Amino acid sequence: MLFYFYFRMFDVPKITGIISARNAKTIGFQFPEGLKRQAPALAKEVEAKTGALVIISGDPCYGACDIDDALLDMVDVLFHFGHSRISDDDRIVFMEYYHDVDVDRAVASALPLLGQKVGVVTTVQHIHKLDDIAKILTDAGREPVISKGDSRITYPGQVLGCNFSAVPAGVDSFLFVGSGNFHPMGMRLAHKVPVVAADPFTGEARLVDVEKIMKQRYAVMAKAMDAKKWGIIVGMKSGQQRLALAKRLKDIAGDAVLISIKEISPDRLLNFKVDAYVSTACPRIAIDDAGRFPAPVLTPVEFEMVKGLRSWEDLALDEIAGD
Ligand code: SF4
Repeated sequence: MLFYFYFRMFDVPKITGIISARNAKTIGFQFPEGLKRQAPALAKEVEAKTGALVIISGDPCYGACDIDDALLDMVDVLFHFGHSRISDDDRIVFMEYYHDVDVDRAVASALPLLGQKVGVVTTVQHIHKLDDIAKILTDAGREPVISKGDSRITYPGQVLGCNFSAVPAGVDSFLFVGSGNFHPMGMRLAHKVPVVAADPFTGEARLVDVEKIMKQRYAVMAKAMDAKKWGIIVGMKSGQQRLALAKRLKDIAGDAVLISIKEISPDRLLNFKVDAYVSTACPRIAIDDAGRFPAPVLTPVEFEMVKGLRSWEDLALDEIAGD
């Protein structure tokens, strides 16, 4: 059973096939935290089967945007596990990871909460279940709608925490299949249409409520209203860099400095002595760690609201758009 699970998790023949086709001698492995414990066994197996040397990245990895660039420069191929492709760099091979959990119970629980025309989205971990989800909806007399996203999105119907471009317009409700609050909250704020979040791991579904997050964000913005000195953070992870945006915000802010950071955390912001920050890096950082930062940290959207360039009714989560 354990072997079956491991085999399902990692496509070892695909990995060894790519190594031998590219005649690669030095290999990088990069895993999100939840898969790291599998890394040593996989590295040993791949070394034994190919004779190549494997180096495992020990740094944190939060998404496909988060490539270990220093490791990438040392290896012939970098296998990045658990996320779908963002970068076109062909030295990186994205090895997606799919959860083998049933979605039927969760989608059935969602049915009473859904409208007639339902926009369906999920994360890459459940994307292989999208047809099953659409069939359940169709069998229940609903009209599922699945859309393509921009270049940052690999599959129709896929969402990232920073990109809702595959969320379809013109529907009367959304069904998000997955766990966590961030994606469905972003959909709800962006589209003002009811969002039902169905969690395949619990089999439960709920209407997404954004009141708490809105209160939190308006409180952070209120604290930043009197800020005179601003720090505009430029994320140094390759898939999070938005220097042009950071420069534009700096011009708007007036008294502002650009600050480059790779791992953004409260203690990294302690010593700059500015009144407020704007993060142009991963949109989740300002939200997930709110309350822990030494000064308000806004998203670019919120900064525009504070500066009067956007209506106070127009709160949305920040997105990193592709082409
Ligand atoms: S920028 Fe943030 S939300 Fe987007 S892929 Fe990276 S970690 Fe995920």
